[in-house]
Amino acid sequence: MDSERIEKIISDYGLQKFRANQLKDAIFNKHVSSYDEVSTLKKDLREKLKEEQPILCLEEHKIYKSSDKRTYKALLKLEDGRIIESVLMSPKPDHWTACISSQVGCAMACTFCATGTMGLLRNLSSEEISDQVLFWRQFIKKNGIDARLNNVVYMGMGEPFHNKTKVFKSVDELKNPETFNMGSRHISISTSGLLKPIYEMAERFPQVNLAISLHAANDVLRSGMMPVNDNFPLDKLAEALTHYLAKTKRKIFLEYILLDDENDSLKNADELVDLIHKIKPSKLLHVNLIVYNQTDSAHRQASRENAVKFKDYLIKNGVSTTIRKNLGRDIDGACGQLAVLDQK
Ligand code: SAH
Ligand code: SF4
Repeated sequence: MDSERIEKIISDYGLQKFRANQLKDAIFNKHVSSYDEVSTLKKDLREKLKEEQPILCLEEHKIYKSSDKRTYKALLKLEDGRIIESVLMSPKPDHWTACISSQVGCAMACTFCATGTMGLLRNLSSEEISDQVLFWRQFIKKNGIDARLNNVVYMGMGEPFHNKTKVFKSVDELKNPETFNMGSRHISISTSGLLKPIYEMAERFPQVNLAISLHAANDVLRSGMMPVNDNFPLDKLAEALTHYLAKTKRKIFLEYILLDDENDSLKNADELVDLIHKIKPSKLLHVNLIVYNQTDSAHRQASRENAVKFKDYLIKNGVSTTIRKNLGRDIDGACGQLAVLDQK
């Protein structure tokens, strides 16, 4: 359910303004899972809506819960039978973040990523994207989780900027005060580095957080892991990020998976420092070092020792850096483990 669909329902069923507001309130504030719960609506209208207007355009297929109960992964079935994954995680107590998908699969074929091995099956519609957030809000309510959904990150399956029009429309929907009513600063988009949408984001969504999947700071290494780098090499990426920072003055997050004997040496760290100094103002860049989640690829996780050395080197050279916590590993809900290979 999004603003377009609810407005259509309101007009098709001739709902008066106060009824329309009751319906919006029930769906987007009270997060009802069924029209039965909307007792303010007359029974015959509720029955009709139940039959004709599903609240979500996707349905729960399976839910996995991590052993520490801080991560849930949902397989969600779309109307055409395709399945996507969506994750709800609690990085700190009372804080919940939804990690949502923007495509079924992904065309970018990064060698370390499970979604990348699927190829692109199709783009999601804006409603299929924002309904993942509505799904998790309903889930939180149904399961009596005593906290709100605070943040949304576009870090599930797919490359958001490869489905830019629908993704941007879904961001507008999440920000819409009439429906999802989220602040831009609670929304983050992660990209493998398609450049034009970075410029567009600076204009259209200057307060939405931007994360770049970098993973290597020299072109040969990066192109080997991320074919997208052939078309959008690092000097062009640096230019786009400098432009973005000039426009938005917001922090950018650089994601860097540490891979054993590939990109985890101090020479690699030094290349990263150089790249960061090319992007101005460099102090607005924050590096998230990511522990690799094993997929079927030949890549291996860097040692703890190398990770700490890498981090210390960056910090010594004035780069703000953290090693990112990994949630949801035991249910394959962690980054890069999202793949539904069995698409019927
Ligand atoms: N396509 C977008 C968003 C989805 S990927 C992007 O690439 O940015 C979300 C994050 O998970 C990215 O930072 C991605 O690089 C990272 N990732 C992919 N595979 C991973 C793996 N096996 N282990 C850890 N992180 C991974
Ligand atoms: Fe696609 Fe991102 Fe995975 Fe690369 S890391 S294949 S861009 S989902």
